[in-house]
Amino acid sequence: MTSPNTTPARAGRERICTQCGATYRSQRNSSLYCSPACRKKANRGTAPTGGPAAGPAGFTVITKALLVAGYVGPITGGKPVPVYALTVPFEHALDELSFQFNRKGWGYISRDEFTEALRSDGIQGFATRSPAAVEEKRWQDRQRQREKRAT
Ligand SMILES: [Zn+2]
Repeated sequence: MTSPNTTPARAGRERICTQCGATYRSQRNSSLYCSPACRKKANRGTAPTGGPAAGPAGFTVITKALLVAGYVGPITGGKPVPVYALTVPFEHALDELSFQFNRKGWGYISRDEFTEALRSDGIQGFATRSPAAVEEKRWQDRQRQREKRAT
């Protein structure tokens, strides 16, 4: 017995194609691509063209490593695409990741390379809106208050 296909055309959660960045809908949680063409492109190793919209799957190696290390994280629920930002100051992230890459035998990361990776993946700076940045500012303000009181 076969059940009739009753799935409406626009069913499922709205998703961003990992390959081209287009918005589409699918009911499958594992769905990554908007079309067989995009799946084929991805399987062939074609670089994603979605830019920031492609999300973590389309990030550069540098940004992916930052994400794994926790130096980059989503700062908004982002509809339809979450916004990612550095969770630590720029210099800290660069130093730390560069050290890790070199330890793996991949060599240090240049400042230009690092800046370009963040730019191409649409990663916001640390100071903008990350919870950690807000927390750090609060801490600095408290320190300043304490210093004022001490004098
Ligand atoms: Zn696509």
